[in-house]
Amino acid sequence: MRADDVIGLVIGLGIIVVFLTVYIGLIVLGVKTAQRKNRSPHWFWFAVHPVGLIITLIVMAALSPLKRCPRCAQTSPQGARLCGFCGYDYMAATPYAPPPQGVYVSPGGY
Ligand SMILES: [Zn+2]
Repeated sequence: MRADDVIGLVIGLGIIVVFLTVYIGLIVLGVKTAQRKNRSPHWFWFAVHPVGLIITLIVMAALSPLKRCPRCAQTSPQGARLCGFCGYDYMAATPYAPPPQGVYVSPGGY
């Protein structure tokens, strides 16, 4: 084996290692994004193909986050008032605080 061959092999292996590191890093990043949005990380099985990874990352970035029902652990859209699966009232869990009904004072006094 000549020295040039060894250098070529090392450079080739280095490129493969860097590529795999970036590839796995993107998948980990996507899975973390999915978990933060309460979306299924199983979407990233598409990432076994590089084109699938890119499409899944774009779709995951475009999807709106979901909230998880504390009673049945199913997910609902962020704006939902009731759980679509068990009817849990999200509004009761996180009461909406109305703005304080302060007395309006006109700037001119009186
Ligand atoms: Zn529920």
